Amino acid sequence: MHTPYPDPDPGTQTRHALHGHYPRAETVDDFRRNLALVHERIDAACQRVGRDPVGVRLLPVSKTIDEAHIRLAYQAGCRVLGENKVQEAHHKWEAMQDLGDLRWSVIGHLQTNKAKLVARFADEFQALDSLRLAETLERRLQAEGRSLDVFVQVNSSNETSKYGLAPEAVAGFLQALPRSGALRVRGLMTLALFSAEPAQVRACFVRLRELRDQLRQHAPAHIGLDELSMGMSGDFEIAIEEGASVVRVGQAIFGARALPDSHYWPATTPAD
Ligand SMILES: *Cc1c(COP(=O)(O)O)cnc(C)c1O
Repeated sequence: MHTPYPDPDPGTQTRHALHGHYPRAETVDDFRRNLALVHERIDAACQRVGRDPVGVRLLPVSKTIDEAHIRLAYQAGCRVLGENKVQEAHHKWEAMQDLGDLRWSVIGHLQTNKAKLVARFADEFQALDSLRLAETLERRLQAEGRSLDVFVQVNSSNETSKYGLAPEAVAGFLQALPRSGALRVRGLMTLALFSAEPAQVRACFVRLRELRDQLRQHAPAHIGLDELSMGMSGDFEIAIEEGASVVRVGQAIFGARALPDSHYWPATTPAD
């Protein structure tokens, strides 16, 4: 298996066992501490493979978290937040207009009929997976006079995730995207298999990176493929070892969510 880094650590474990156990952050200091701990984990993973941590962006994921707690996270330094449901994200954006430099990244599946909402307020959309959606977003963005950074979501695990393009469909998809310019493709995004077996999780991340490397050889010039958004609270160290440039981390910053992950990804099975 080709890897771009000198010494990826095949011994790195997933941390799914921690899910449901991260304490809720209730103060600005809790957030500062959790962010520092996550950055320590990022730095350690980078060090194992000789990467510069500057090349890894932490995207805190605030889904299900209420406004009061989001404001604490903002005070602790968060300036971009990920949300997987567009209506929830839009409500929060409206409610926190006073935080002028707080930006929103929509990271979950989007129905075409909600594209106009994303076009109105989001700075980034990480779950692009259909041409119809791309065309609708492009049109709505033009109308709003806005642009949007997007990631193409890839189903790297086949059997478990019901969203995202099949890897073999991505090349054709990129060729067919509208070229008028409001949508700016930055890279690929994936959810790994939700498994306690690190080798299976790692294989998903390797698949995404290898796909990106292949696509680079033929992608149209206006398509950016520098970014790989992969890794969450339970597996972001492995993702970093395999080349992640964005890690999407919720529970390790905000605390455990009340609902199980199966609520957010209906097709996934619980961790083994
Ligand atoms: C919720 C979510 C995350 C973050 O998961 P955590 O376990 O809270 O770190 C990452 N990516 C997507 C698409 C999500 O919906």
